[in-house]
Amino acid sequence: MIPVNDPLLDGNEKKYLNECIETGWISSEGPFIKRFEEGFAALVQRKHAIAVANGSMALDAAVAALGLEAGAEVILPSFTIISCAAAIVRAGLVPVAVDADAATLNIDVSLIEAAITSRTRAILVVHIYGLPCDMDPILDIARRYDLKVIEDAAEMHGQAYRGKPCGSFGDISIFSFYPNKHITTGEGGMIVTDSDALAARSRDLRNLCFIPARRFVHEELGYNMRMTNLQAALGVAQLERLPEFIERKRAMGRLYNELLQGMPDVELPTARVDYAESIYWVYGIVLKESIGFDAEEAMRRLGGAGVGTRPFFWPMHEQPVLRRMGFMAQARCPVSERIARRGFYIPSGLALTEQQIREAARIVREVIRK
Ligand SMILES: *Cc1c(COP(=O)(O)O)cnc(C)c1O
Repeated sequence: MIPVNDPLLDGNEKKYLNECIETGWISSEGPFIKRFEEGFAALVQRKHAIAVANGSMALDAAVAALGLEAGAEVILPSFTIISCAAAIVRAGLVPVAVDADAATLNIDVSLIEAAITSRTRAILVVHIYGLPCDMDPILDIARRYDLKVIEDAAEMHGQAYRGKPCGSFGDISIFSFYPNKHITTGEGGMIVTDSDALAARSRDLRNLCFIPARRFVHEELGYNMRMTNLQAALGVAQLERLPEFIERKRAMGRLYNELLQGMPDVELPTARVDYAESIYWVYGIVLKESIGFDAEEAMRRLGGAGVGTRPFFWPMHEQPVLRRMGFMAQARCPVSERIARRGFYIPSGLALTEQQIREAARIVREVIRK
């Protein structure tokens, strides 16, 4: 089986992990946390970085840190991971879904203004799969309507929008270090911001809202979202290699583009737009209607032939849990609905060899035809 994702852990990971064990620093106290936070803040050109247990909790903290009033609306793409909507709902806010752009799979910027009401307070933007969202018009809308911007850059380490790092655009932005991300800590996440107040608030939320005056007396409820020194040790080792990883991902994406071009029934990912080249976090393809089966069937056939795949996200406005809560009943997102049913991704992990890519592409060509 050609795995859909395998991380690369052959740099200083072992050495740094050994340091943790030899020194006994294995909890969230420990020198690698600060090193990872500082290294990451420098990477995305932000004043503060706050390491947390995973990307989903980073979203929870980022949304909560903004302190929006209960019932306020937050615009998000329908085509994203549930963590985005969950963070909004858990903060007592109302998620409002906007459809995807068919070419980039990101939020369709031309539909955002129509979704703004007198109750809208924020936009949660998510850079999906390879290309950043078109940030200039989004930031312009946010300025004109006085909206906060939460930026989910979980899939965009090392990617830039018009030369400026992804993760540097939100009032508060987040990353994930799950093993399929460009760099991994096993589980892990990061909140980044330039705001001293949002950083302080995020740190409080991360650590149970302890107050300095009297430990174990609490004015507010926080979470334990702390990252361990062990995870941060992995993060520091991975961060050292990010430029190399990004090169590698782009080379893999370009090779797939070359090997899969001209397939009549398949839409390949958009390689570049005027503001960025794809980073190919995952190599996602979408089946055209000209072929008589959907993504589920294609994935079954590919699995049978030894090629690992994963389905695309399932739209937020079609999530049973959110619909039951009464959210997004009015949403119309035909592009999200289509790509969720006709899209999936093929082996994209950093540890793939060129031979595995060639083999995967050969099988995709063979299996996906009428
Ligand atoms: C992976 C991912 C997350 C969640 O991160 P976890 O660390 O898995 O909790 C959030 N948003 C996006 C866009 C992601 O791809």
